[in-house]
Amino acid sequence: MKQIEDTADRRQKSWCIHCGGWIEQVITNRDHAPSKVLLDEPFPANMPLMKVCRPCNSSFAEDEEYVAGFLGAVLSGSADPDAQVVERSARIFRGNPGLRSRIEKAKQVDRNLFGEETISWGPEHARFERVLVKNARGHAFYEISEPMLKKPSKVWFGPLAGLDEKQTAVFENAAWPNGLWPEVGSRMMTRFLTGEDLDEGWVIVQEGVYRYTVMQTGGMLVRIVMREYLAAEIVWED
Ligand SMILES: [Zn+2]
Repeated sequence: MKQIEDTADRRQKSWCIHCGGWIEQVITNRDHAPSKVLLDEPFPANMPLMKVCRPCNSSFAEDEEYVAGFLGAVLSGSADPDAQVVERSARIFRGNPGLRSRIEKAKQVDRNLFGEETISWGPEHARFERVLVKNARGHAFYEISEPMLKKPSKVWFGPLAGLDEKQTAVFENAAWPNGLWPEVGSRMMTRFLTGEDLDEGWVIVQEGVYRYTVMQTGGMLVRIVMREYLAAEIVWED
């Protein structure tokens, strides 16, 4: 990815986008959105980076590892490290047997009428929500320079393949409503003009691994797709 300069109002950079803490008065860390654990190595160059307070930065690590591991297990049909199609998940399960067994327990195997195995997985919703909201806040801030400090009004996630044709069309449509455009100077506006890392309005962080789109709709709407499997929508109503 290319580093895009952000010329929007710099006063907005003074708060931790997760807890609202005043950045000049707290110890800060640099934080990536998307979280690196959700991507494959080598990481893209110039990943979106922002300052957040240190307690917030470290508070997400466990949930992020859980989400990365869970997605790996779903895509592999197993939490066995040797069966992982995503290398990062193999490392997670090898290094964290507790998490491995926790995710294994979320797997349910049924047999259908014809004796064929069907597998379903029960995600821990609260952990997914924390990771999705964290990343959505990062995307909104990085692209539009808006700190979304309030609790979102809606967090939805599910398998992309679970959407029917009409729902998929709505979800994939990243055109801003009513002919609105991002604020001049924001990264999203720069992307609109240059097409940088942009495909039909989606920012492609890593092909097939992570993409997102941010739309200002009166409120704020962020959509995320992980590994072309998980679809998520996070909304702040005005
Ligand atoms: Zn914070």
